[in-house]
Amino acid sequence: MSTIIYPTTNLKATETLTLERGDGAYVYDNQGKQYFEALAGLWCTSLGYNNRELIDTVNQQMGQLSYSHMFGGKTHQVGMDLSEKLSAMVPVENAKVFFGNSGSDANDTHIKMLRYYFNAIGKPEKYKIIARDRAYHGVTVAAASLTGLVPNHTHFDLPFEALGILRTDAPHYYRGALPGETEEQFVDRITNNLEQMILAEGADTIAAFIAEPITGASGVIVPPKGYYEKVQAILNKYDILFWADEVITGFGRTGNDFGSRTMGIENPAMMTLAKQLSSAYMPISASVIRGDMYEAMIEPSAQVGVFGHGYTYSGHPVACAVALKTLEIYERDNIFGHAAEMGDYMQKRLREFADHPLVGEIRGEGMIAAIEMVANKATGKAFEGGAVGGFAMQACQNHGMITRAVAGSSLAFCPPLIINKDQVDEMIEKLSKGLDDTLDFVT
Ligand code: PLP
Repeated sequence: MSTIIYPTTNLKATETLTLERGDGAYVYDNQGKQYFEALAGLWCTSLGYNNRELIDTVNQQMGQLSYSHMFGGKTHQVGMDLSEKLSAMVPVENAKVFFGNSGSDANDTHIKMLRYYFNAIGKPEKYKIIARDRAYHGVTVAAASLTGLVPNHTHFDLPFEALGILRTDAPHYYRGALPGETEEQFVDRITNNLEQMILAEGADTIAAFIAEPITGASGVIVPPKGYYEKVQAILNKYDILFWADEVITGFGRTGNDFGSRTMGIENPAMMTLAKQLSSAYMPISASVIRGDMYEAMIEPSAQVGVFGHGYTYSGHPVACAVALKTLEIYERDNIFGHAAEMGDYMQKRLREFADHPLVGEIRGEGMIAAIEMVANKATGKAFEGGAVGGFAMQACQNHGMITRAVAGSSLAFCPPLIINKDQVDEMIEKLSKGLDDTLDFVT
């Protein structure tokens, strides 16, 4: 066993697979075995592996300027170009961009900017943030406090109370509906719960509501029709900002440029971006805020002499260069349009498993999906613990496909956006074998 403390791993049962190289939508282990990467790494390698243009961009920028920071307003052209491009792309008004290294630190940045902004406009008591049950927003102390998944809190003494995180319902009809409740009634009930919580806490104390437009780690929850419309109406009524965590759903994943667009989220005030921003060729994230929020922060920073937040690697030039090239490729090769088309095909093919005895629910949009396996198909009774999910994930791996068990017994699918129809078919074939093995295991 190595000396690595593995991230998000059962520390009692560590090393599982040693990968050696990747090419397109495939990775290869140290025995030369090929795997279809059905989760694009961790929902991030949108353009696949061994992309020559991205590699050349990294090499070129390494040679030109391997590092520069952005403290004190130092800058470089690729950073400015990337920021301009992002600002023009996102549905955030007059967007301003802060660069970081990961989705988690980008969410921490947002929490701090929220405080800075509301202090600046004379509303220091407006600091609480509403996050949803089963949300995933990362693992730093603050981001993990936004996260609503038990394993990310247990033994860590999280969530961190002083942050003032409020928790509202996950918009998951299949798991959250009361007996006999229609989707519409479910949406009415949970959005009413949201409004009642706002009234009980006092709207003046609540800064923002954070949501992944479609969730990832909690099992790819696609909220029912009307949910975001109602949520936005409530937030507007009480002057609470919408904060879209697009770390997974950004850049074509859901069939549009952003998940907010797919889900009808209009003009979010804040947006978190990472992962597909650079197709994971370099770590980089962006915390995007509305222009007027930024404007409000200028004077207070002048009083202190500095906006006292920044990472050594904020705006790392190699990460900026590769992100800029990634965005250029998305546009030039119509990757989002391709993803929309392949996404429709993938969703259609996944739904062929609707009659499989193990499958309780199939959900997703565009190129992100999950299949939830259940102990009882008729009642939807869930499997206890993670054994079945773990087995299914391993079974798929044995058949040459990497996926991930999320939310206990759901298998997630989020392949590189560049895949073709044959590769969707290959994924379905491997899944079919993995599911049949799992059925043998449970019966
Ligand atoms: N937000 C969302 C929606 C995510 O899915 C993730 C990671 O999966 C994060 C934030 C955290 O990103 P990172 O792992 O880069 O810190």
